[in-house]
Amino acid sequence: MTRTSIIDDAREVVRASALIELGARMQVLESELALPRDRLIRLYHEIKGESPPKGMLPSSADWYMTWQANIHASLFYNAYVFLKDQAGCSHLDALTKGFRLYREHCAQNRLEMQLDLTRAWTLVRFFKGGLLQLTACRRCAGKFVIHKYDAPDGKVCAICQPPSRAGKRAKDKEVPAASCGTDGASDDAETQTEIDAQGEARSEKPPRPKPIPRD
Ligand SMILES: [Zn+2]
Repeated sequence: MTRTSIIDDAREVVRASALIELGARMQVLESELALPRDRLIRLYHEIKGESPPKGMLPSSADWYMTWQANIHASLFYNAYVFLKDQAGCSHLDALTKGFRLYREHCAQNRLEMQLDLTRAWTLVRFFKGGLLQLTACRRCAGKFVIHKYDAPDGKVCAICQPPSRAGKRAKDKEVPAASCGTDGASDDAETQTEIDAQGEARSEKPPRPKPIPRD
């Protein structure tokens, strides 16, 4: 894409800088921005002081179904949808602002972040690709993430329905934060109907954004 406007070009650099500061990988930058790869790499160097990391992006929608990731993904995605549909933000602005809100929420409530920016970006792509959908919890009415092929009615979210093995894991170890390079779903194959003790021990129940009317 040829950029003819210096102002547009400057805006792209600002957007790229914001994404890099939030932890975006090169694949995310190249996909979202019209800047050439070499400029993105230079920008990355200037901001982070190091080369962009290499490696595969997460590719499994199942990762978002583990209970803790599901709560965090639902929290972020509700914010993203609100910013995009109600506040009139572009996709990219909703992504960066939504992720900042999510990060601030975790920091204020001393929660370990489960999503990084790439996970958040991939989540949005999975929604766009028709792999995921939001459904309303039949207890709290909060909207949460499920597979597209799941029947949406009558489900209960991971906050309302804690997992059966609650209280067993937190004593032993901390659950590592989400890593972009791996898909945790395979070796941490909990479902959203399960929860472990870490959430209870920390009273990890992030308040949901108010349900957003979609129609
Ligand atoms: Zn619920």
